[in-house]
Amino acid sequence: MDEPCIGVLGGGQLGRMLALEARRMGYRVMMWTGGDNSGAARFADHILLDRFDSESAFEVFTSTACVATVEFENIPRELIDRVSTKIPVMPPTEAVGICQDREKEKTFLRSNNIPTTAFEIVKTAAELKIALENIPGDVILKTVKAGYDGKGQLLVKDDAERQPAENIWAEFGSDHAIVEKRINLAAELSVICVSGQDGEVITYDPAENEHTNHILDISIVPARLSPELQKEVQDIAANVTRALKYVGVMGVEFFIDKDGTLLVNEIAPRPHNSGHHTIDACATSQFEQQLRAICGLPLGSTKLIQPVVMLNLLGDIWEAPSTPPDWTPIHKIPGAKLHLYGKQEARASRKMGHVTFTANTVEDALAHANYIKRIYGIQ
Ligand code: ADP
Ligand code: MG
Repeated sequence: MDEPCIGVLGGGQLGRMLALEARRMGYRVMMWTGGDNSGAARFADHILLDRFDSESAFEVFTSTACVATVEFENIPRELIDRVSTKIPVMPPTEAVGICQDREKEKTFLRSNNIPTTAFEIVKTAAELKIALENIPGDVILKTVKAGYDGKGQLLVKDDAERQPAENIWAEFGSDHAIVEKRINLAAELSVICVSGQDGEVITYDPAENEHTNHILDISIVPARLSPELQKEVQDIAANVTRALKYVGVMGVEFFIDKDGTLLVNEIAPRPHNSGHHTIDACATSQFEQQLRAICGLPLGSTKLIQPVVMLNLLGDIWEAPSTPPDWTPIHKIPGAKLHLYGKQEARASRKMGHVTFTANTVEDALAHANYIKRIYGIQ
């Protein structure tokens, strides 16, 4: 008999890393990419390259997979709902729907008394003008839907060069956006949470994240913060997970401002980039946890085995679109592990892979990461 098949909506690296774990654990994976032919899905046992409105792909997907999950939140909500009429979908469609839409997400956080950034929803230049008056200082304008890795974001500075709202709105070119107060960041953190089908919620140690141009650059675990603060972010993240009635793995992103205030930035209804270190440094990887949760197995230990730093590798360091740099310097470092996503074409800002550096201390791991950043010219 064939091994049970997990259906994955999406065609990127998160599905690929899930497929790697699934194979080890005795599952097959079918990835329905929606047209994405980047190459990352090649690790799956079955690949559907069809668009998400394809009836034939829907038939094949729902008749082959016994359970489905999303590896990317910007999958059409209608499709997730429709798949769920045929096979179980985890995380639940309502939770994914909230995380797909920054308005719903922020409203959900606010209504559950979870601290978040001051924000206003705007649909016209006139509304933007009012929001800019109501939220003093620099703000970030973000599209409500379909943003990721800093896409669909515009920093609007509160200075002499600030354009009139009409110009900003025209430049931004969206008809539904969120205006967020720009936080004076002391640090960014994230917590990967796992919720089982019985409602049990467990969390990993918080990661301390550094971003460049709104894209994750490195994650440091353990975070260099007091144990009390670490416990507080884990508790808030677990509360968010429970409030969403979640099943599966999710990432909760936090800001800490310079006054020490803790704010939830956003929620990702899937394994998270800042959880990639769990593959090499934790008792159970976030991808294995996702499989355990959606297949109804007991959840695994989230224990950190060794201090670790994860460094993202973006397309910027490729020598040509299909020519990666020489990886020898990474392979020479004890404790460094290279992960490449199999994407055929490198582009600026595109996530092509990552490296994890495990070491006896977080300082040593960070020194290795910084050395590699210098070698490859990563800013
Ligand atoms: P994405 O979906 O692209 O991850 P985020 O809202 O998480 O969108 O923004 C990406 C990054 O941009 C954040 O991790 C942070 O570094 C920066 N950023 C976003 N919003 C704010 C804000 N309100 N104040 C300060 N920095 C922000
Ligand atoms: Mg984010």
